[in-house]
Amino acid sequence: MVDRAESGRGEPRLAGRARRLLLDAFLPPLCLACAGPVQQSGQLCASCWNGARFIAPPLCACCGAPFELAMPEGTLCGACLAEPPPFARARAALSYEGVGRDLVLGFKMADRTYCAPAFAEWLARTGAALLAEADLLVPVPLHRWRLLARRFNQAALMAHELSRRTGLQVLPDALVRLRSTPSQASLRAAERAANVRGAFAVRRGAKSKLEGRRVVLIDDVLTTGATAGACARALLKAGASSVDVLTLARRDRKSDGII
Ligand SMILES: [Zn+2]
Ligand SMILES: [Zn+2]
Repeated sequence: MVDRAESGRGEPRLAGRARRLLLDAFLPPLCLACAGPVQQSGQLCASCWNGARFIAPPLCACCGAPFELAMPEGTLCGACLAEPPPFARARAALSYEGVGRDLVLGFKMADRTYCAPAFAEWLARTGAALLAEADLLVPVPLHRWRLLARRFNQAALMAHELSRRTGLQVLPDALVRLRSTPSQASLRAAERAANVRGAFAVRRGAKSKLEGRRVVLIDDVLTTGATAGACARALLKAGASSVDVLTLARRDRKSDGII
């Protein structure tokens, strides 16, 4: 059951649908990636569809990195064997290259909040196994200054949409970002890990809700896994029984296929 008070939306399901139908009637549907015209809302245009790289098995059983060659189920990539991440499994809908990057950046930088329902549908499909075993959804938080500048947290938006679909409860404020970390974009893996170390904590009031629960952490993009790892560590420390990670996109690491 979705706890409406907890999800912080308070918006009845029907009202949300009616609003979307109303918006569709007045605003032409736009491609999720390039904002060009499409037939129906929640779609990619033909050119973006052809350029999008959706991730499919075979994958690393832990971090979800795609393998180039068929591998037995349960195989781990070299990176996960060398240093197992704090989260159990990470899965992503598509590669953060080309159209994948346009989708992520358009969503958070260009206010394309209309993308959230379609992205939640992709997350539900990609993360079906993770969501089937989950108790709670927790979005990766933004620092409050960044939230003020952007006005919305793209991860929380996807978590709320996913909650509507799955009935899983979302705890939007379970995690707090203690400091505003510099952008991860230009940093190497080791610098990224140092950059986010200790940057997240579980809010005091959320601890009792996390104890013994299986959490799926929601974010827009998985890069080195440093942010997801730091969040997972905080959630596990607060008593969560397991943490999986579900993101819209993941950055390729060319060495992932080598074991
Ligand atoms: Zn397009
Ligand atoms: Zn891996």
